Amino acid sequence: MIELKQLTKQYGKAGRMTTALSGLNLSIEKGEIFGVIGHSGAGKSTLIRCMNLLERPTSGEVWVGGVNLTSLGKKQLQAERRKIGMIFQHFNLLSSATVYDNIAFPLRLIKTSKADIERKVSELLNLVGLAEHRDKYPSQLSGGQKQRVGIARALASDPEVLLCDEATSALDPQTTDSILRLLLDINKKFNLTIVLITHEMHVIQSICDRVAVIHQGGIVEQGPVTEVFLKP
Ligand code: ADP
Ligand code: ADP
Repeated sequence: MIELKQLTKQYGKAGRMTTALSGLNLSIEKGEIFGVIGHSGAGKSTLIRCMNLLERPTSGEVWVGGVNLTSLGKKQLQAERRKIGMIFQHFNLLSSATVYDNIAFPLRLIKTSKADIERKVSELLNLVGLAEHRDKYPSQLSGGQKQRVGIARALASDPEVLLCDEATSALDPQTTDSILRLLLDINKKFNLTIVLITHEMHVIQSICDRVAVIHQGGIVEQGPVTEVFLKP
């Protein structure tokens, strides 16, 4: 489903260059929950942002669903990106828009009809357990509820992949568990491929099928979670 080939990302100009990813190869199967763990500065965030080309790699290829994203022009890339949803540590919601409008946002961008938006957003609100909060603003929600809005918005365009960038790092342990359970439900229900990056072992151990350990911009170990880490 996702194939990274010889992925290299450097920031900055010659002389003051930081190499965030260095010739990294990675292959993620359809329907799996794949975790990437590593210390701060290891390259996790750069890696996940390269998977939808939010960050342009310096060299190498990013393949998603059989398409080489790094070879596409702007228009084609926009279309392919709809297959890739993303959620963030700090949720990235529009503070001046309601829960409903936040979730509807990506659908309005692609000119979905009003009736289709209503149907889809209602369905998503039920899925994430926020039906009775549809007219609230983000500031009226708890952290866990905000991330549920983020998840619903990410799912609005029926993606094949969900990228999670430290999605539970701003949440308390109990809320983290409820969000992880929701991600697992969604993975099973839609056979959605989920990639998550985290610095928390617990997150990997609770829902991931496979894990890769990233260190200084390269994968140093990978495999089934039960093989890479001993069970707690
Ligand atoms: P992690 O998510 O594992 O903390 P990052 O991908 O954020 O790692 O960072 C990897 C390396 O790239 C670090 O050395 C970081 O300082 C550097 N880096 C990340 N983003 C930028 C940027 N926009 N400009 C310059 N250096 C960056
Ligand atoms: P909090 O940050 O308050 O802990 P949660 O993310 O745990 O928020 O839950 C947000 C809302 O979703 C709550 O109103 C909760 O009752 C509801 N909720 C939690 N889990 C589910 C679920 N699996 N199905 C439906 N609704 C749920």
